[in-house]
Amino acid sequence: MTPQAELVVDLDVYRQNLDVLRRLAPGAQQMAVVKANGYGHGMVPMARAARDAGAEWLGVATAEEALALRSAGDSGPVLCWLAAPGAPFAELIDQDIEVTASSAEQLEEILAAAPRRPRVQLKVDTGLSRNGARFGPDWTALVHAAARAQALGRVAVTGVWSHFACADEPGNPATDEQEKVFRSAVDELSAAGVDPGTRHLCNSAGVLTQPSAHLDLVRVGIASYGIAPDAAVPVPGVRPVLTARARLAHVKDVEAGARVSYGYRWQAEHATRLGLVPVGYGEGIHRTASNRAEVGFAGGRLPVRGTICMDQFVVELGDVPAQRGDIVTLFGPGDDGEPSVEDWAVAAGTIGYEIVTRLAGRWARTYR
Ligand code: PLP
Repeated sequence: MTPQAELVVDLDVYRQNLDVLRRLAPGAQQMAVVKANGYGHGMVPMARAARDAGAEWLGVATAEEALALRSAGDSGPVLCWLAAPGAPFAELIDQDIEVTASSAEQLEEILAAAPRRPRVQLKVDTGLSRNGARFGPDWTALVHAAARAQALGRVAVTGVWSHFACADEPGNPATDEQEKVFRSAVDELSAAGVDPGTRHLCNSAGVLTQPSAHLDLVRVGIASYGIAPDAAVPVPGVRPVLTARARLAHVKDVEAGARVSYGYRWQAEHATRLGLVPVGYGEGIHRTASNRAEVGFAGGRLPVRGTICMDQFVVELGDVPAQRGDIVTLFGPGDDGEPSVEDWAVAAGTIGYEIVTRLAGRWARTYR
């Protein structure tokens, strides 16, 4: 029997999406980005499927995520890139996880903690102003620190990388500018006698909009889950991996004028029929989609009525014949007319990334 609320993850579709993305960046290695619980899909199952599909690399943000991959038995190349002071560098290095240095200071912290010669990738900030040594004096300091450490046999520099800010805006000149800065940063590293190793710059949007920057490796997240980075960047050939569905917990007839859910933010104009969907913001469903989103049912759509609550929300059935226990689909591949993750993103005033990474709470998860 289908659980009350279920996330169904189609691993075949995920593997096929990775194949599609590989063909869009031929010649580059592929890093499957599985951070943030595999974008809400479940980190370990997605990581295993990515390896099956031939992904050479897995990418995660935090040390904890990288170590969880090792605990789950993954022994292939893993890069992690977001480490506050005190991160467990010794354990990461011991477990053959490649770490990222974003400053000369951070490189020194890594070297000081390392139980043996660490494999380190250098991150240059080419404009995004998040992690990475800013191109200019900070980058030069990191390059020199890396060159010194390498000459002493203290480090193996295995890669150099950066991250785009606007690759999801086709034609935005910032992307060319960042690529240019990146190439200068790589040249500076080489000129200091350090082999740059694996050079990488592209996220999903970059794979589509900036082929000149595919370089040695691409880091694919959102598109591998079948979600477009932005409406302006459709990804041909990929399909949504995730379906979110739930069984109606209650069905009732209400009279004209009936008011619905907290704050009475919706009122029935006519007598109608309502259904109760047993998931809410406790499951990561965005409250901002109240009165705006729709769910799929029997080949059509039902509107969300009133405020989305912690555990539940109301949809209007009207004269659609539906019973307690019937399954509604919040989002999925669209095969039965149900909304997409992108539709929910529009309704919630956010992006598809946030719709899936917020999924939490009391869902059953099924992998097939
Ligand atoms: N690389 C880095 C450093 C990231 O932080 C992310 C995700 O935000 C990705 C790659 C993957 O990006 P996307 O999901 O847009 O493909």
